[in-house]
Amino acid sequence: MSDVKFFSGENIPLEMHKVRMVQRVYLLPIEERAKRMAEAGYNTFLLRNKDIFLDMLTDSGVNAMSENQYAAMLQADDSYAGSETFYRLESVLQDMFNMEYFLPAHQGRACEHILSRLLVTPGSTAIMNYHFTTTKAHICTLGGQIEEIIIDEGLEINSELAFKGNLDINKLNEAIARLGRENICFVRIEAGTNLVGGQPVSMQNMREVSKICRAEGLTLVYDASLLSDNLYFIKKRDGEFKDKEIIDITREIGSLMDIIYFSARKLGAARGGGILTSNKEMFLQMREMVPLYEGFLTYGGMSVREMEAMAIGLQESLDIDIISQTPIFVEVLCRELLTKGVPVVTPPGGLGCHIDARAFCSHLSQEQYPAGALAAAFFLASGVRGMERGTLSEQRNPDGSETLAHMELLRLAFPKRVFTLSQVRYVADRLAWLYENRELIGGLIFEEEPRVLRFFFGRLKTDGNWPEKLIKKFRADFGESL
Ligand SMILES: *Cc1c(COP(=O)(O)O)cnc(C)c1O
Repeated sequence: MSDVKFFSGENIPLEMHKVRMVQRVYLLPIEERAKRMAEAGYNTFLLRNKDIFLDMLTDSGVNAMSENQYAAMLQADDSYAGSETFYRLESVLQDMFNMEYFLPAHQGRACEHILSRLLVTPGSTAIMNYHFTTTKAHICTLGGQIEEIIIDEGLEINSELAFKGNLDINKLNEAIARLGRENICFVRIEAGTNLVGGQPVSMQNMREVSKICRAEGLTLVYDASLLSDNLYFIKKRDGEFKDKEIIDITREIGSLMDIIYFSARKLGAARGGGILTSNKEMFLQMREMVPLYEGFLTYGGMSVREMEAMAIGLQESLDIDIISQTPIFVEVLCRELLTKGVPVVTPPGGLGCHIDARAFCSHLSQEQYPAGALAAAFFLASGVRGMERGTLSEQRNPDGSETLAHMELLRLAFPKRVFTLSQVRYVADRLAWLYENRELIGGLIFEEEPRVLRFFFGRLKTDGNWPEKLIKKFRADFGESL
């Protein structure tokens, strides 16, 4: 099937696009990189882009847009109310998911804010395969709590399972029986589970969860931010969809959900977000909030140019040639790392390559933030910026103790269609070098620790002067090389 097309005879992944505009990047010497990392408080979020060689922090708002997206931006209909741009975007989304109502919001978390205000009551529980940072923060801020019911294998680093993001049906039934349906504010399925390796959810699983929710009268919410990779996996890993059109998959998903929301910084490769539903009552309640928190109903805090780009980007995400590029590059990097012995999450998921920092830095405890330390060390070793997805990204418990993350991951995200294969190979090469010298990586200690979403702005220091040792080894092995 699609593999034949995307991997040629020599196992070469084929990009089904060509690059027509580029950005110059710079690779600073390791001594400079170490300085910038220290200035950034060993938090890769606080680095400046000019100091970074390859930015693999996230795929959010940094995907390469197509010529058709740029062209559409010039035709945006600029008006406060009733813009044609809105109606074009609305009709693309209605067609894609077969849902009736669309509400624009400026990004994914803005949708979460509105949804949480609609559904969360103090003391209620939102049940989901896995949380995303901003999702959990919005629910908890309104006095709700979350419960995660991902299948056990979803939290194992290595598995053969095709859909590790699935919800555990037994856990769902058990949670409903234990909590009582009136205490559950909604059930949420996150496509392409962001925090646990970009692992997909199967159509069969969505069907089963939807059936239970309908029987129990529970609202089912779908976070489609990482849908495009999940679509690729459904088509590739589930025989039922081998010969189906992508739009058949999105429409079926639409038929199973009460509400779909997404970050268009990811899905649609633009910047923005939106909420869809066919439930008129919910639509009307949410409609009151859009002008209050976002902007008038026909722009929702977005620029109309971005909305035009989004409409085209969404249509392009129904093209298997386009959506396969990220998961194939993730797979290439994962495979290369595995041959070099570097521990990664398998099977390869979407979004990026996920390095198992607990195995990589097995000499560090979770309280020493192994994934954060690895992110900092890897920036030193390569100029590549990744993101910590582990204990640092969690929030402390009310008693001040750490919430230890299920997984300690260094995520190397693949913005769509941004990097070349040689850059991917450089990443693998430097990571393999770091792995050989992993015992040089030390822990991190908070110097400034914000209470909410601390990973964004928190500043840390190193536990001992390990960056110095890393630089020394680098110079011994690579000489004058950058
Ligand atoms: C990024 C993301 C969000 C939040 O979207 P923003 O546009 O960054 O606010 C929500 N859910 C998931 C799964 C995401 O990946």
